[in-house]
Amino acid sequence: MSGRKHIVIIGGGFGGISVAKKLKKADVDITIIDKNNHHLFQPLLYQVATAALSPGDIAVPIRAILGKRKGLKVLLGKVTGVDKNEKFVSLESGQKVSFDYLVLAPGAQYNYFGNDDWKRYAPGLKSVGDALQIRERILLSLEKAEQLEDPKLREPYLTFVVIGGGPTGVEMAGAIGEIAKRNMMRDYNTFSKNETRIFLVEAAPKILNGYPDSLSERARETLEEMGVRVLVNTPVTDINHQQVSFSEGAIDTPNIIWAAGVAASPLLSSLETEQDRTGRVFVNDDLSIPGHSDIFVIGDAAHKEDENGNPLPALAPVAIQQGEFLGTSLQNEINKKERGTFYYVDKGTMATIGRAKAVADIRGFKFSGFFAWILWSVVHIFFLIGFRNRFRVFVEWMWHYFTFKRGVRLITDRFSKNEERDNS
Ligand SMILES: Cc1cc2nc3c(=O)[nH]c(=O)nc-3n(C[C@H](O)[C@H](O)[C@H](O)COP(=O)(O)OP(=O)(O)OC[C@H]3O[C@@H](n4cnc5c(N)ncnc54)[C@H](O)[C@@H]3O)c2cc1C
Repeated sequence: MSGRKHIVIIGGGFGGISVAKKLKKADVDITIIDKNNHHLFQPLLYQVATAALSPGDIAVPIRAILGKRKGLKVLLGKVTGVDKNEKFVSLESGQKVSFDYLVLAPGAQYNYFGNDDWKRYAPGLKSVGDALQIRERILLSLEKAEQLEDPKLREPYLTFVVIGGGPTGVEMAGAIGEIAKRNMMRDYNTFSKNETRIFLVEAAPKILNGYPDSLSERARETLEEMGVRVLVNTPVTDINHQQVSFSEGAIDTPNIIWAAGVAASPLLSSLETEQDRTGRVFVNDDLSIPGHSDIFVIGDAAHKEDENGNPLPALAPVAIQQGEFLGTSLQNEINKKERGTFYYVDKGTMATIGRAKAVADIRGFKFSGFFAWILWSVVHIFFLIGFRNRFRVFVEWMWHYFTFKRGVRLITDRFSKNEERDNS
């Protein structure tokens, strides 16, 4: 490398990519390391899982986003540790990469609250692989139901349970509701849409916790109108390959999807600095970690409080704003200027429930229904990376809106084999 400062960025998600883009013209060397070769637009992952979009619509190679630039290196590899004092990171392959400045943006993962064996029966939705696995389970289940003449025997295959009533669980339950109560049902002959059952299970007293009461109530009503049964105050006590259990009762189904708690990346513990209950690292106002002004943590991995002392939510706009702030700060630092203090600008929150149905809270202005859904669609198209993806997603959505048809319904044998193994 040259005599220029070397900035290493771990993670090519919303946070990491924003830092790298801001630094595009800066006089620095940059290495961005990710265990995947692509940036993933996670907010639309549930649409891949429910056969509305293809993986290529929402994932873009990191190299393609950042393009060619002197001193820029993209490394495919999993970072396993950070040495703060010697200033290098270690990769699973054994490679070591030294840095002048380090940005950690490794995101979060699902938290099974100590029941890690549930993961194989109730996958979470975090990667393209997860989405394809869930999609295949749903499609295979409908195929199995089609083969069974006895309604009692096919009931579990026509039952879907989503655990966790946050935005992802709501979106997922709504999308399955659309498939199972309308879109794909005309393709099957043995069973009717009245036989399909979709449950959204939440341990807390309401879904969309953190949203205003009126919007979470509206979301619950909308889901129920779509045929989704919402069970609140219902913590899960056990999960196996064919059943999810609660303190009172159980539901028989192999179709269980986990959208409950999240925990920050396990990589963060190698920083040996204070972490909150979910593993997020406490950061200073400039997003550096205490005692190390050259190491920064951003996005879902960082615990940063707002002016009222509440931790910022794990949302894409937080990661993007922190990434942009840090890119500018690092440029300032290299030009011997002040770094500044990070402030989050909250532009509002939205969750979609289904076709023409969403809820939104934009700076205290609360609304739901068609207008909220249009706004949700415009914002998501706008933030997708790449014109080609925006165009393709727009065309797909128009097609679904007018035809009620789902696009990508292929079953490959990749996950069916896993499923047989899991069930054995
Ligand atoms: C299903 C789902 C739906 C969501 N919906 C919304 C929504 O509607 N609106 C919203 O604002 N937010 C939503 N979010 C949250 C949003 O996606 C996150 O807040 C955002 O992605 C955080 O950005 P980040 O850069 O911190 O992490 P991420 O975007 O998760 O990126 C982390 C990157 O780090 C890489 N990585 C992790 N560990 C390592 C390692 N050890 N070595 C190398 N690379 C590593 C990963 O491969 C990944 O590319 C959703 C999240 C999920 C999972």
